[in-house]
Amino acid sequence: MADRIGTKAAWLSGLIGVALLAAACSSSDPATGPSAPIFPSGPSGAPVRVLMLTATAGFRHDSIATARQVLTSLSNSTGGFSLTLTEDVASLSASSLAAYDVLAFVLTSGELDFSPAQKKAITDFVSDGKGFIGIHSASDTLYEWPDYGRLVGAYFKEHPWTQSAGVIVENTTHPATSGLGDRFSLLEEYYTFRDNPRGRVQVLLKLDPISVGSAGDYPLAWAQSFGSGRAYYNALGHFSETWTDQRFQRQLIGAIRWTAKRD
Ligand SMILES: [Zn+2]
Repeated sequence: MADRIGTKAAWLSGLIGVALLAAACSSSDPATGPSAPIFPSGPSGAPVRVLMLTATAGFRHDSIATARQVLTSLSNSTGGFSLTLTEDVASLSASSLAAYDVLAFVLTSGELDFSPAQKKAITDFVSDGKGFIGIHSASDTLYEWPDYGRLVGAYFKEHPWTQSAGVIVENTTHPATSGLGDRFSLLEEYYTFRDNPRGRVQVLLKLDPISVGSAGDYPLAWAQSFGSGRAYYNALGHFSETWTDQRFQRQLIGAIRWTAKRD
């Protein structure tokens, strides 16, 4: 257990901009000091292998470049995961996916041109025990492929609020939300979905409707089992500033660890 906690602390110490502070804080604890291994030994301690797809067939977010830079920096600073970036939809196959632990659709959009065999490879990848992460417009992607909708949890409907708003951390103990406190405020483009995924998924974040002058239940991030695997979705990430925000980076690291079954 101590190893797991120490490992997580090592990952989080890689957050961009807080590495020095976290290292200073942890140096008093032998379990997480500089001489301690960053990852436990054995197969389960190997870096999580993440394939990150940013292909778009619809709207293309300006924040894609920042997203790629931030995940690359987090990969380097935490050492906890290796990262392969791709825009090449054709490169995904059962054999290529076999080299990864987590498939991340980051700011994807539209009807990406996957063949039936590729679609099966993607759902088999997760249902056979690997991880999936969808960020922001990953829910504005592949409306014509219902199994993908199940994997993400819900399809984008509209974004009625682009403003600073309150985000309620509904689950403060999940690895992808722990350490965030019980709420935070953020300038974002806030999504609503065609149907409310609550009931199918474990809701992690939701919009504080009062903060946008509304009412209702608006989940923003969630986690779910998908066959033997795990799937995570986070609707935040529209602006580059969200990606450079350590509160968002903390969620990404937690999601990578959780979908890879490291937490
Ligand atoms: Zn957006």
